[in-house]
Amino acid sequence: MITLEQLRYRWPKHDIDTIHIEQLQIQQGERIFLFGPSGTGKSTLLGLLAGIHRPTLGKISILNQDLTSLSNAKRDQFRADHIGTIFQNFNLLAYLNPLENVMLGCHFSTLRTNKAVQQHGSVKQAARHLLAQLGISEPLLHHSVGELSIGQQQRIVAARAVIGKPELIIADEPTSALDADNRAAFINLLFEQATQCNATLLFVSHDQSLAPMFSRQLSLAEINQRDEKV
Ligand code: ADP
Ligand code: MG
Repeated sequence: MITLEQLRYRWPKHDIDTIHIEQLQIQQGERIFLFGPSGTGKSTLLGLLAGIHRPTLGKISILNQDLTSLSNAKRDQFRADHIGTIFQNFNLLAYLNPLENVMLGCHFSTLRTNKAVQQHGSVKQAARHLLAQLGISEPLLHHSVGELSIGQQQRIVAARAVIGKPELIIADEPTSALDADNRAAFINLLFEQATQCNATLLFVSHDQSLAPMFSRQLSLAEINQRDEKV
């Protein structure tokens, strides 16, 4: 699913690599927990995998596609087609209602649009179906997302990440603003959705108490040799 080789990333004006990973492989269907203290490069690594940053050196391949050989525009398209992303601050659009926010997950991808249409008749119907499944009831669909609780917003973010069945779901500390009960509930919800799309899940957190829920734990400090000077 994911292969990293000799991967290095150095931020502009830095004199060491933030990321230096010799080798890493992630298999399809794995539920990965990537952890490490804040400031160690977790978000940088996710940005590389999502094709937002381009490696300084080395290779990233996802679904047998070498991301490093793609132009910026092609990497953006690859992300839209194959990767559902969930960020810490959710990135929901406050002026759109829940349905419209979920539909955004397909907006930049014909591939995901076609998958949603094939399964549900339209992207709107697919979004409705997901939200109903996640317990967002019909009256809430016409509110702006800013009027909803954090727990409700989270479910909308999860639905947006999985609509159109991307092969990879990447989540960057999505539970850090939640209490323990809501955290576990959200992770279980992501697992259910990932299982339904047959997706691989890469979940990042500094909170190690969540680790046992996942099928594999990766310590960034162990896989990363970030202090090595080049
Ligand atoms: P984490 O997600 O583990 O908290 P980050 O990947 O956000 O860590 O940051 C790792 C390091 O990368 C930071 O210490 C910082 O030096 C550098 N970094 C992160 N974002 C930027 C940026 N936008 N510009 C320059 N340097 C950055
Ligand atoms: Mg981070």
